[in-house]
Amino acid sequence: MHDKTITELAAGLRTKEFSSVELTRYYLDRITRYDKQLNSYVTVCADQALQQAQAADQAIAAGDAVSLTGIPLAQKDIFCTDGVKTSCGSRMLDNFIAPYDAGVVARCNGAGMVMLGKTNMDEFAMGSSNETSYYGSVHNPWDPDAVPGGSSGGSAAAVAARLAPVATGTDTGGSIRQPASLCGITGLKPTYGRVSRYGMIAFASSLDQGGVMARTAEDASLLLNIIAGFDERDSTSAEQPVPDYRTTLEESLAGLKIGLPKEYFAEGLDAGVARVIDSAVDEYRKLGAQVKEISLPNTSLAVPTYYVIAPAECSSNLSRFDGVRFGYRCDNPVDLEDLYKRSRGEGFGAEVKRRIMIGTYALSAGYYDAYYLKAQRLRHLISDDFAKAFEEVDVIMGPTSPTVAFNLGEKSSDPVSMYLSDIYTIAVNLAGLPGMSIPVGFVDQRPVGLQIIGNYFGEARLLNVAHRFQQVTDWHARTPQLKG
Ligand code: GLN
Repeated sequence: MHDKTITELAAGLRTKEFSSVELTRYYLDRITRYDKQLNSYVTVCADQALQQAQAADQAIAAGDAVSLTGIPLAQKDIFCTDGVKTSCGSRMLDNFIAPYDAGVVARCNGAGMVMLGKTNMDEFAMGSSNETSYYGSVHNPWDPDAVPGGSSGGSAAAVAARLAPVATGTDTGGSIRQPASLCGITGLKPTYGRVSRYGMIAFASSLDQGGVMARTAEDASLLLNIIAGFDERDSTSAEQPVPDYRTTLEESLAGLKIGLPKEYFAEGLDAGVARVIDSAVDEYRKLGAQVKEISLPNTSLAVPTYYVIAPAECSSNLSRFDGVRFGYRCDNPVDLEDLYKRSRGEGFGAEVKRRIMIGTYALSAGYYDAYYLKAQRLRHLISDDFAKAFEEVDVIMGPTSPTVAFNLGEKSSDPVSMYLSDIYTIAVNLAGLPGMSIPVGFVDQRPVGLQIIGNYFGEARLLNVAHRFQQVTDWHARTPQLKG
């Protein structure tokens, strides 16, 4: 059962091969059996899930079902869920029961999907390994000594281990694509504005974007169909029509122009990963694509630019966690200042504090022009690189991550080496473009992801490019062996 895609599961529900209640119980049992070793869920919503499943079965029986009615999914714990703890991986929100649903969650519920639970993540989505979570690291299902990537590491591990058929994620600098790559699944970060940020706890608002973590591109297209679209409650939501992403999956890739940025294949890229990426690109040649080298000359500026802009926005966004209105409050404050200081000091972890301090510094009088303003200028240069590239090619390909999954603890004491693991993903957020990662092979039994970057609102093309590859390869169908 767990090897079925959501496309197959939806067909099984419709033909009454099994019910949504049976399917949901099956996944809840798998979570009970295997998640002790993986730690991919912060909260499992067994009772609520079974109620949703029962309602879905009634809708199916009454002929009221839509495409994913009755399909279980996991929501990243950054999305507010009415009545259910929404922790964002932080002690600060360990006691927070959201009073409303995020736009993404409301759409999934509205489509009759069943929420199995909320997935573990780096604290406030700051991290690349899931090790900054207040709830402890997630383990990579392919190797328990390895990180799953981050920040959507819980969603990636849950989908890879088949503890959820599909999940949501968010991506500010790579947090869907990098864990998808490290766990061997398909991840899609849409164009900035494509998916509502309403009720998605803010990290860096000009970069944050919700998206999909799935086994296949076809599955990703089904969930994107549900979560994409305008939301008036998000001021940067795009008022663009949403195509049916399924209908273009099969289009031929003959004549597709693929650009390989030479900067993505330079020093720092693991030789084994490079070989796997080369063979994936060869597969695209066989599918009729034309491949050429391109240049994104400002690639090396992406990480430093991001680490001014993202902390600046985070320092502002996270000022709302003050111990007064919601979330963690310290015991016995002596006065207001003590309440602020100790609530924030005790509620936030080390990485979040580091970012708040960098951001506050970069925005302070006298430094604003030197750091924040300069970073905004560099952001334009980085976007221009992509605009020029898309005059020549249809999609850009390269590795998602310079290495396969690293070991737990390997980078956690060296923030700069951790930051560099997003070297190929961050520029895409700075430009607001859509990007995907699909599994294309292994190095040392750990998965390798191919990144595919598209032009604005080019999600349909990306899904098509990924789907055609998955029709002629089976990397996406490989399943890790779990103990338990
Ligand atoms: N790893 C990056 C960071 O730590 C990106 C995180 C994300 O995309 N949320 O900021």
